[in-house]
Amino acid sequence: MEPDATKLVRAYLEREMALGLDAVPGAAAAQRRGPAARAAHASTPAAGVGASALPVGRAASPEPRPGRPAEGVPSALSHLLVEPAICAASSLEELRNVLGDCRRCKLCSGRKNIVFGVGDPRAEVMFVGEGPGEDEDLQGKPFVGKAGALLDRIITGGMGLGRDRVYIANVVKCRPPNNRNPEPDEIVACEPFLRRQIELVAPRVVISLGAFATQVLLRDRTPISRRRGQWHQLDGIGTSGPVALMPTFHPAYLLRTPGDKRLVWEDIKLVMARLGLEMPKRGTSA
Ligand code: SF4
Repeated sequence: MEPDATKLVRAYLEREMALGLDAVPGAAAAQRRGPAARAAHASTPAAGVGASALPVGRAASPEPRPGRPAEGVPSALSHLLVEPAICAASSLEELRNVLGDCRRCKLCSGRKNIVFGVGDPRAEVMFVGEGPGEDEDLQGKPFVGKAGALLDRIITGGMGLGRDRVYIANVVKCRPPNNRNPEPDEIVACEPFLRRQIELVAPRVVISLGAFATQVLLRDRTPISRRRGQWHQLDGIGTSGPVALMPTFHPAYLLRTPGDKRLVWEDIKLVMARLGLEMPKRGTSA
């Protein structure tokens, strides 16, 4: 590795740690796994999805769509550390081809299918979850189990949209063993693909589902209970305009805590108002 590249990687990792990841992502593991893993580790850190909080209730009126991905604007240091092919992918299909039969992190060893993402490639609303569970791993699609059925009810009953009108993806594309949280090196390896998905879809609103996805996107550890219901803005996403982020509870949490569905409903109402969409007359139950 060139000395300058070393500095860039060190700066990136220090930034990530300052923003909330509590270990140097993957460095030790990459050392253990040998040269190929070290090379992959050095080449795949995530670009800097930061975010800034906006006041509660901001943007009650619709805001313009952020537009298509901006090209040739490697403004963040971390852009320099992402695989060029990821940044160069000009469609979701191309990005999926770049991902290939991915071996960039250790989650590849236990997966049955890579769960890349589904939905409208020009959706105005994008949902981001944590990672595939068992059902998703088996089917290769995000949110297809019981939690997925509840997400469907939120999309159709709560928003009056079809699944084909939104885009759904996860922070990591392979199932973590025993549904544990993804580890820092796995996030660093996989998150550039999520970032590029957001850039390519260029949604007006990203809805992060649950604490994990929210904390990754916002780069801090604030509990989801304090984040949900407030608008945030994703910084460092290479779209030509801002992308708003609305954190809310994960459907799996709602299955365990149905009393909090009303809070998700409040969050969805904020999203609908921002998009200028009418609430469906019926189907207010998630
Ligand atoms: S989780 Fe992401 S980076 Fe890791 S092997 Fe799967 S697709 Fe590749």
